Amino acid sequence: MITGKNFIGFTPSANGTKTYKTFNPQTNVENEDVFTEATSEEINQAVALATEAFKTFSKTSGTDKAAFLNAIADEIMALETLVETYCKESGLPEGRAMGERGRTVGQLRAFANLVTEGSWVEATIDTAQPAREPMPKPDLRKMNIGLGPVVVFGASNFPLAYSTAGGDTAAALAAGCPVIVKSHPMHAGTGELIASAVIKAAKKTNMPDGVFSNINSSGIEVGQQLVSHPGVKAVGFTGSIRGGRALYDLAGQREEPIPVFAEMGSVNPVVMLPKALEEKSEAWAKTYASSITLGTGQFCTNPGLLFGVKSDALTQFVDVLAKEIVEIAPSCMLHPNIKGAYDKNKDRALQQEAITVVANYEGDVKPNYAQQTVITVDGATFLENTTLHQELFGPFSMVVQCESLEELEHIIYKLEGQLTGTLLAAEGEAETCPEIVNAVQNRVGRIIFNGVPTGVEVCPAMVHGGPYPASTDSRFTAVGTQSIKRWVRPFSYQDWPENLLPEALQDANPLGVLRLVNGVETRDKI
Ligand code: NAP
Repeated sequence: MITGKNFIGFTPSANGTKTYKTFNPQTNVENEDVFTEATSEEINQAVALATEAFKTFSKTSGTDKAAFLNAIADEIMALETLVETYCKESGLPEGRAMGERGRTVGQLRAFANLVTEGSWVEATIDTAQPAREPMPKPDLRKMNIGLGPVVVFGASNFPLAYSTAGGDTAAALAAGCPVIVKSHPMHAGTGELIASAVIKAAKKTNMPDGVFSNINSSGIEVGQQLVSHPGVKAVGFTGSIRGGRALYDLAGQREEPIPVFAEMGSVNPVVMLPKALEEKSEAWAKTYASSITLGTGQFCTNPGLLFGVKSDALTQFVDVLAKEIVEIAPSCMLHPNIKGAYDKNKDRALQQEAITVVANYEGDVKPNYAQQTVITVDGATFLENTTLHQELFGPFSMVVQCESLEELEHIIYKLEGQLTGTLLAAEGEAETCPEIVNAVQNRVGRIIFNGVPTGVEVCPAMVHGGPYPASTDSRFTAVGTQSIKRWVRPFSYQDWPENLLPEALQDANPLGVLRLVNGVETRDKI
């Protein structure tokens, strides 16, 4: 049952007076449940509990953390009204809800496996050399440890996989960091249900009170207070550049600055090489009509920019894309505000000089349904007008028609940082233009060959991040088990007694983890 309360640690709490409701974009009416925004005192309590919980949770064994993470996954699967609530708060279809739930549970279990195996701590041991001249060498042993309480901002476009118990939360808990979730107001009920599953799992597996809190809010003040709080040691965020940047700046102004790992806007350039289009322009156009409209274009990896060199094949690509994309039935956006932003930003794009609208769904649509649009522009105009470089969240894409591959390369270098880049190439064609591949690599976190950027695999080799503003720190990924590295710091023990060392650093290596011992990777004991 949804109560509308916050979880301050294990305790449901609603001491505030500011309330709000979620909205069903499919029916275009407010949902019934009433949520109470957290007060300053409740936020302080949540941080105080997390600070206390960190003392023991940071020392919890991998096996016990794995039991907690697996129990969260089990409790999520046992939630009876989750899918229904998800759909009525997001307008997304049931199939997507179930898929995202599967991904969320899969992420939790992947982190459980990671901490059970244990090598993620990157144990590094340099044994002492007492006889070294002119100075003896001390014994040094390094491993990763948790940063402290982490605040996670739920994402509007992934109510499960990037929200309450999504990737950021799973990674932070795996690292031994208590998590305080700033629930996304558009899906507060989904968030509360998931939070109840996390709390149940925490109690069942004897985790400390405060290991997890869920904070309701309908305005930016709650997030600001959380990010400014001295007890908070890191922040995870997915959303707009404006929101992410504001929080990043706020964290930097604190007396003790803290890292904000914000995953923000991306237009995901696709470079279509000439021969690829000569051979398969029609097939690629059909594929991209689907990719641009997938999930109503509300994916951070949505292909918003398509680059080609002017040719008959590029013209054919544009013609087929324009024809195919308006054949696809429009779908619902997450919230009237997201739809409003789409319409406003699209209007602004359509008002730019020297652009051509080649496809614009003209049929009637239900409220909150988005009309898909494709425009074209030449390379020189695009280069000059940086308004056209901005993310347009929704089923929109722009084909940039360049004069030459040299112009295309030049433009790619001028793009802001991106999550992904895609290369469409015929057999042997990519080898002929390494400079284009270099340009794309310079601007993105992941490069895709002959595919589409939508669809993000969750695995250790995934990089979901990229140069700013795709993310605030391109050295880290937000997806996959390597994302745990955002929530840890390296820590060294010097000449520390064997019996006081964590197991991963003890001579006997009781956990059997992979370690770097005197420069050699091994699972052997010392
Ligand atoms: P958002 O406006 O960035 O908000 C995300 C979260 O951050 C919300 O919980 C919001 O709180 C909070 N927030 C925003 N600005 C803040 C500030 N200055 N200080 C403190 N907290 C702040 O994103 P959204 O509401 O999810 O969606 C709006 C737009 O963001 C979309 O239309 C789209 O353009 C973009 N977006 C992009 C992606 C992507 O993957 N590229 C994903 C999601 C959204 P409140 O809601 O409580 O104010």
